[in-house]
Amino acid sequence: MKNLWNDGDAERLVADYAKKGVARDLALRVYTTRLLGGEPRLVLHGGGNTSCKTKATDLVGDEWDVLCVKGSGWDMGVIEPQGLPAVKLGALLKARALASLADEDMVALQRANLMDPASPNPSVETLLHAFLPHKFVDHTHSTAILAIVDQADSKPLIKTVFGDKMGYVPYIKPGFDLAKVAADVYDADPSVEGLILDKHGIFTFGDDPKQAYDRMIHYVNVAEDYVAKNGKPKTAKAALPAKLATPAAIAPMLRGAVAVARGEGRFDRMISDFRTSDAIVDFINSAGIADYAGRGVSTPDLSIRIKTGPMAVPAPDADKIGDYKAVIKSHVDAFANDYRAYFETNDALDDVQRTMLDPMPRLTLVPGLGMFGHGRTLKDAKIASDVGEMWIEAVRGAEAVGSFHPLSKADLFPLEYWSLEQAKLASNKPKPLTGQVVLITGGAGAIGAATAKLFAANGAHAVVVDLDAARAAEAAKAAGNNSIGVGADITNPAELRAAFDKAVAVYGGVDILVSNAGAAWEGGIGELDDALLRKSFELNFFAHQSAAQNAVRIMLEQGTGGVLLFNTSKQAVNPGPKFGAYGVPKAATLFLSRQYALDYGAHGIRSNAVNADRIRSGLLTDAMIASRSGARGVSEKEYMSGNLLGQEVTAEDVAQAFLHQALAERTTADVTTVDGGNIAAALR
Ligand SMILES: [Zn+2]
Repeated sequence: MKNLWNDGDAERLVADYAKKGVARDLALRVYTTRLLGGEPRLVLHGGGNTSCKTKATDLVGDEWDVLCVKGSGWDMGVIEPQGLPAVKLGALLKARALASLADEDMVALQRANLMDPASPNPSVETLLHAFLPHKFVDHTHSTAILAIVDQADSKPLIKTVFGDKMGYVPYIKPGFDLAKVAADVYDADPSVEGLILDKHGIFTFGDDPKQAYDRMIHYVNVAEDYVAKNGKPKTAKAALPAKLATPAAIAPMLRGAVAVARGEGRFDRMISDFRTSDAIVDFINSAGIADYAGRGVSTPDLSIRIKTGPMAVPAPDADKIGDYKAVIKSHVDAFANDYRAYFETNDALDDVQRTMLDPMPRLTLVPGLGMFGHGRTLKDAKIASDVGEMWIEAVRGAEAVGSFHPLSKADLFPLEYWSLEQAKLASNKPKPLTGQVVLITGGAGAIGAATAKLFAANGAHAVVVDLDAARAAEAAKAAGNNSIGVGADITNPAELRAAFDKAVAVYGGVDILVSNAGAAWEGGIGELDDALLRKSFELNFFAHQSAAQNAVRIMLEQGTGGVLLFNTSKQAVNPGPKFGAYGVPKAATLFLSRQYALDYGAHGIRSNAVNADRIRSGLLTDAMIASRSGARGVSEKEYMSGNLLGQEVTAEDVAQAFLHQALAERTTADVTTVDGGNIAAALR
């Protein structure tokens, strides 16, 4: 691992922060924290922490010795000074004399001594940083270090690899007890340059930030070199089918299997992020992969991301893909049952009240293909994949020098079910569509874009499909929540299929279709050119049918139901003069919606339609509004609000109707009217 310290960069950052009133110590603390945090082989997504001991002045001018330590929720790679809250050191040091300190009391002590009460919670490892006398302390979960410490008999190996310059700390759950033992280990030999924490990671320290950082990189290199020189790569590979199924073919099955059934057709769905590389596949193809996966996580804080460890499934045979759904299901069931047993066994050991987290895997290893990270959001799914890559590195190293033997699951349990994490559960309410994927055709138009925005605001990831790829990307960006835009001519079945494939590739599947794209052509029905009517049918009927077919194909593979929503327009029930070319296929689409409701209700797939009217959009442009209102001798405002409520109906109102239909769990074969009231078009 390369040492990235650069005097010029460090001094530039110090100078930049000096202008903002940040002192040199803290600026340098930020500098090396980012160096460490930018390397996934050292820390990942909020893991690891750093500190520095310095002085700070409070609002009444008193100067205090403080510990600036990483705050919870901050990522080291992008840390800012406010991510290293200052805690009065005196109170922290006094705590060392206590015989015990409950986690909640430790947090209370830390918060009570913050210089700025608005700061985030200081790290759970704050006391360990405080009890060490050095000005700068660095802590990482380096994969190379984990390869050495995740062994059955790690203590002698740690001595062999690191010698006397590193202290050995046995595994203890992070918190007060670990801080005390680590400090005792240091006091027993103050000549050490750092501490190796069994089954957990490494601390290094120094009088200045460079010394602490240099030592971190040095000892990580010592571990890497040891693995490189003494490691014997395991070569036994599992036999793979002659023809492997594709990731896209199995993603919806897997996504469906890991969805949490809430009963009565309700599911908490997850997003699946597929990740692969030669290194990933080479390791996952190992004959022992299921065994390794079952042994657990490489360092305890990964349990927040991938629970008790990954799930390995057999390689998917393209010729037996029909049986694979059952294979996946049996593996997910086994994982979930093991997880429940793990919870029940460990929960029964004391009388603390705990809520079991869902028992589903967050990382699936698929020989021949790669791995899927699962999470309630795309971000969480990607984090699970990132964690998976580092888990693979650590296990590969551990297996090369011995046998991967991480922290036991009994020891992992108190960490995964740390009382403060449990307290967060209550405040972490998901949004109504969290974990769901909506594909919207005509997604860059007024109604499509408003729908993408509203669904994304309600937790869904939107796949915005539009003829214009650039505008689709813009609408996706405006919708937010990691939504994506896809350019496609949806009257071309191959392009429409590719849009659904993209949804599967990025999110693992589709749960909601908003089949919205349409275009209007005019002309008396008796004189219409056949070609024009057929063209209208292509977009206003067949594209709806193709989109629904694609959606249903994926929904059936997932097995978690779904919703089809069609924009059928008022024309479907109430023809407008010279508007037959538009209204006739829309009427067919309304019937189509009911046919899907009938044919797929038993699979939990609902189908509804919205018939909107007179919405300012690409179909009813400002120029058309001006011309039509002029022809009728009314103002534009009167024309647009010519309904029972006397109010203009907007694209956002239509989006609300789609959202209502998506959320109304017992509503199917419904038509929702969004026209401000038009008795002639009212449904009977
Ligand atoms: Zn740690």
